[in-house]
Amino acid sequence: MDSIEFGASVAREINPGGKPRNRDEMAAIAQNFGAKITYSPYKYSTGALAEYNDADKEIICYSAAIAKVEELAGSHRGRLTAVDFPTMCIAHELFHHLDFTRYSQVQLGNITIKYAGIITIRRRVRATREIAAHAFAQELLALPLSPATLLERALGGAHAS
Ligand SMILES: [Zn+2]
Repeated sequence: MDSIEFGASVAREINPGGKPRNRDEMAAIAQNFGAKITYSPYKYSTGALAEYNDADKEIICYSAAIAKVEELAGSHRGRLTAVDFPTMCIAHELFHHLDFTRYSQVQLGNITIKYAGIITIRRRVRATREIAAHAFAQELLALPLSPATLLERALGGAHAS
């Protein structure tokens, strides 16, 4: 299945009605599906804004990293300032929670990797589920652009993993 269509379809499936309007509504949806949400001041070493710990079914938001993105986004005009980054991070990580608890058997499209320009291997890689998570967050929150693009525009580097 195509990663983008899968992510968007999961968003429509779990939330056919109104879109979550703010962080509290987003958190309530995640909690209804059994995800814990915690905020940690410590920035994850890879620069991620948030992550999902499947052992504890926990969405961890890295407050300092998110605050930095918000600060950088605040210096942009237009679309970025309308984005609530913690809400977006929770939505993205909720996809990983749903994927882990409900959809892990869904096969997403493979990605072609070329080695040395000669050997071509098609593999399912983590990237396909990242693409799906971004598509999920965009659909769930009715964002104007993919979270990947929004984050790239804000700072080009840090990302939600
Ligand atoms: Zn992710």
